[in-house]
Amino acid sequence: VVRIRTNAKFDDFYEIYGEPLGEGKFGKVFQCRERSTGLELAAKFIKIRKDADKATVEREVSIMTQMRHPRIAQIYDAFYAGTNDVILLMEIVRGGELFNRVAEESYILTEKAVAMIVCQICEAIDYIHSQHIIHLDIKPENIMCVSETGNRIKLIDFGLAQYYDGSKDLYYMAGTPEFAAPEVIKYEPLDFRTDMWSVGVITYILLSGYSPFLGDNVAETYVNVERGEWEFTEEFELVSEQAKDFIRNLLSYDKNNRMYPRECLKHPWIAETRAAASIDTLLAQPIPIPRVEPIAKEAEPAIEDGTQLSNKQIKRYVVRRRFRKLAFAVMCYVDFRKILIELRRRHSIKGEEYFAAAKVPDPPEEMGALLAKKPRDEE
Ligand code: ATP
Repeated sequence: VVRIRTNAKFDDFYEIYGEPLGEGKFGKVFQCRERSTGLELAAKFIKIRKDADKATVEREVSIMTQMRHPRIAQIYDAFYAGTNDVILLMEIVRGGELFNRVAEESYILTEKAVAMIVCQICEAIDYIHSQHIIHLDIKPENIMCVSETGNRIKLIDFGLAQYYDGSKDLYYMAGTPEFAAPEVIKYEPLDFRTDMWSVGVITYILLSGYSPFLGDNVAETYVNVERGEWEFTEEFELVSEQAKDFIRNLLSYDKNNRMYPRECLKHPWIAETRAAASIDTLLAQPIPIPRVEPIAKEAEPAIEDGTQLSNKQIKRYVVRRRFRKLAFAVMCYVDFRKILIELRRRHSIKGEEYFAAAKVPDPPEEMGALLAKKPRDEE
């Protein structure tokens, strides 16, 4: 079991090198090496601002420790650093974010490739749910490619994950509205199928390059999700009926009509791809324990047959999304309270915990100028 070390110094055991791997809401992620073994890992520095944050980070570590699955980045070690930082050491996932990869011109985007990706996401979520955890932050940034050429993916971030055993209602408003289920936006009880709405949104985007609920600003996205109305755009003309049926069964407003991950894996659109790629045999590979060895390399399934879809639209989506990410954080900061007050009024939700539950990040320094301008649109 990985516990957060208190009496050890990170620098005595690990060294950071090269360019940062990425940046999230709560800190940066660096490449790093274990001094004694040379093992390469990802080091995620998480800033703790309040005691509540500390409990959140401890929950993230505890949940990640429980995760042993080939589709999930394995935690390896953790440290308290100073009074304000926690450093998580985890398996490094080198292929970059999934959406950047599928947007590359050289990437052969076929329905089968998408099914293969979605299948792996469902396998990961099925496992997470089997551990009585709801992820609550299934979104493109949290899906990474194992290599720059292959199609294996891993989920990386458990920052918002919650324990759930069904014994009492779980309310939690967090995550990215573009991918969040209506029950999240409406502050209604969640369950495992809340994650599956996000899988529906991701599948929709991968197949079309369009995001079904994305509005011109955060408030509009909220309203779109709250209404829950969506349709297949003309980009879906080339897409099979099976794939559309899969999406319909995930983007169901009533979560009781949504598929669980296990049902997704049995859905013909996924099951056929899965059988062809014999993912089951891949899954049978042993999973290493933390602080021993990262997960073994897996064979690559073939994905190149079938109608090729155009990457053009998804490329546009990815480029805009990069911009939006910064703008969103700004708008989130500026407008979030207003949106919450409005939603609270409409859904007559009481209590300050409503605000506490919705994590409003502090604006990063470079946002000073942007904040002053208060952008309304992504472009
Ligand atoms: P978010 O804003 O998504 O909630 P966060 O602060 O929880 O972010 P992560 O999503 O875990 O942080 O990581 C931020 C970025 O760092 C990721 O989008 C990814 O690009 C990179 N990253 C995180 N973990 C790894 C890893 N294990 N291997 C490689 N890169 C990683």
